[in-house]
Order: sequence, then C-alpha cells, then structure tokens
Amino acid sequence: MTADYACIPESALTTLALLILKRAKLTLPVTNRRQAVAVIRGVKPAPPRNQPLNIRQPVPLCRACCQALPVGTLCDSTGQRHIECSKKEALK
Ligand SMILES: [Zn+2]
Repeated sequence: MTADYACIPESALTTLALLILKRAKLTLPVTNRRQAVAVIRGVKPAPPRNQPLNIRQPVPLCRACCQALPVGTLCDSTGQRHIECSKKEALK
C-alpha cells in the first residue's frame, strides 16, 4: 500500500512525521516534504511488550522427501531426513 501525499500540505506532513518520531523515540531530521514522507512510510513503533510477537520457529524439511521434519520427531543421525522416510531407498 503506497499512499500519495501530494495533496497534503508540507506542514501537516512534517508535524505528523515529528509525532511519529516522538512516539518511536527517534531523532531524525525532518525539514522538507521528502524527509517527512520517508519518516511516515519507514518508521514503525516498537511492538508492545505485553503481547505475543507471533514469531514461529521454522520447521525444517526432510532432505529426501521435502516433507516437514518437526523438531523432536525421529530422524537419522544427520538430522536431515526422516528415519523412516518414504524416499529413503531412492537416494541411497
Ligand atoms: Zn522424509
């Protein structure tokens, strides 16, 4: 989503950029329209501390059959293939 800020006066853009910077506790120069638009588009506030970040651990894939190989399930000694993989015979 890219908004077009052409119809908004520079003073409003500058004020909004300064508010965003104050909220994000950053100091960046905002003296013209280009810098203000860059701050509005680029600066995001930090994520709240009391909510989960929704970061998921990536599930590794089996080298042989390309199916999910979840952590804690049976795998071979290299940790890259299912111990009973459907394509085990094909690669050996
Ligand atoms: Zn497999």
